[in-house]
Amino acid sequence: MRSSLIGKIEKAKIYAQQPERVTFSALSVDFHGGHNIHKVDYSDGKWHCSCDFFSQWGTCSHVMALQQMLSKMLPQEALTSPSLTQSTQH
Ligand SMILES: [Zn+2]
Repeated sequence: MRSSLIGKIEKAKIYAQQPERVTFSALSVDFHGGHNIHKVDYSDGKWHCSCDFFSQWGTCSHVMALQQMLSKMLPQEALTSPSLTQSTQH
């Protein structure tokens, strides 16, 4: 029993170095911005943030920061922002 647990711990150490093994299907965070805490969610292929900028633009610095932090662990559709893909080239 004990030796198999040690094997799992060793495997976990290797996995922890390989974030590309993990893909978020949904997430929910409290984002500590400059002045306020914003609620950022990702589910069903869509981002949502509680800040004012997001409600106008469909993305914001909080979403964009998470996209960069978690780039290896987000599905492709989570890395593009609907309102920005029209004005920027990817
Ligand atoms: Zn925001």
